[in-house]
Amino acid sequence: MALVVQKYGGSSVADAECVKRVAQRIVATKQAGNDVVVVVSAMGDTTDELIDLAQEVSPLPPARELDMLLTAGERISMAVLAMAIANLGHEAKSFTGSQAGVITDSFHGKAKIIDVTPGRLRSALEGGSICIVAGFQGVSQDTKDITTLGRGGSDTTAVALAAALNADVCEIYTDVDGVFTADPRIVPAAQQIPKISYEEMLELAASGAKILHLRCVEYARRYNIPIHVRSSFSQKEGTWVVASTEGTEVEHAIISGVAHDRSQAKLTVVGVPDKVGEAAAIFRLVAEAEINLDMVVQNVSAASTGKTDISFTLPATDGQSALAALNKAQEEIGFESLRFDDRIGKISLVGAGMRAHPGVSATLFGALADAGVNIEMISTSEIRISVIVDQDDVDTAVHAVHRAFDLDADQVEAVVYGGTGR
Ligand code: ASP
Ligand code: MG
Repeated sequence: MALVVQKYGGSSVADAECVKRVAQRIVATKQAGNDVVVVVSAMGDTTDELIDLAQEVSPLPPARELDMLLTAGERISMAVLAMAIANLGHEAKSFTGSQAGVITDSFHGKAKIIDVTPGRLRSALEGGSICIVAGFQGVSQDTKDITTLGRGGSDTTAVALAAALNADVCEIYTDVDGVFTADPRIVPAAQQIPKISYEEMLELAASGAKILHLRCVEYARRYNIPIHVRSSFSQKEGTWVVASTEGTEVEHAIISGVAHDRSQAKLTVVGVPDKVGEAAAIFRLVAEAEINLDMVVQNVSAASTGKTDISFTLPATDGQSALAALNKAQEEIGFESLRFDDRIGKISLVGAGMRAHPGVSATLFGALADAGVNIEMISTSEIRISVIVDQDDVDTAVHAVHRAFDLDADQVEAVVYGGTGR
């Protein structure tokens, strides 16, 4: 008998019909002799709708209350799913994140899990119940307030519970048949990846591939939890995210996939005095505002002015707070002005085989040039190359790069079963 943790995303439980179908799938897993813990997201676009609602009553809702509001989405789906399972004659018990023992720090909207104490889940499992847990939420250790883990956080809940319960597998159900070489919504010829390493999946997730939450992959790697990403709309085998095994890279494709991200923005600090400590002062301010930067570029300073420009990318949603923090310190730092551009897109090419194969960047830049796409910034890791382009060029760039690395399938196999891609 195995312990299976399954996570169903918003599109898998979008309406009553979907919930009933998922309930059948869960019951089938239970009847096959497994213990089952299920993590659910809010139904369909509920989370977005709740955010819109909050915005309607306040442009800057208090973070504590926003978390309280958003966690309601998952509470609805967990209860409805438990009812659907009960209707099939099986016992299911729903638990909030707090009841399931998901203990976090107190950063509302982006809380980190610091401990998982799933005692109540264990007793429910022992009593023969199926456990349904509300994803993406926990309770703060010090304030005892309800927290959320950040958008897409239910994946992380699932892996964290799988680790704490010592589960055999964590299945993440979504609306496509696994991880693809590009977003099938943009590239219909994208191919499904049967197996991918944690490292590559981390790079893809960090580069904007929305299929798995970044922290969920970090968690899975740390505790060595195999993740099976698959569709709740089909019975097909999905993508296994596992530890990379030595030596398999030889047969492995050089490139695993192309990710894109439209949620970033570029901030340029214009006319920064070219002297020691200036960059440190700028980035200290940005860090104090709790903003995660991605790429950083500093131009060579013009000899005549002794000034330079520093550009960096950040989540577009953090743009206003970054601008405010820097504006406040303009005199102290001595820069001339700030330029903000949220019409950018990031394209990332990821593949462990890159380490051992020269010429990958030449092919990438060549493909973009041939497609007439201008590159604004470039950054690399050992197994990733990312470029910033104009947001209008994102689709063209993804297609061009996907084709240049021979990733297009001969036959279209990608099916997008649900979701609005919102
Ligand atoms: N419902 C939350 C969101 O939309 C969490 C999740 O789906 O993982 O971000
Ligand atoms: Mg998700």
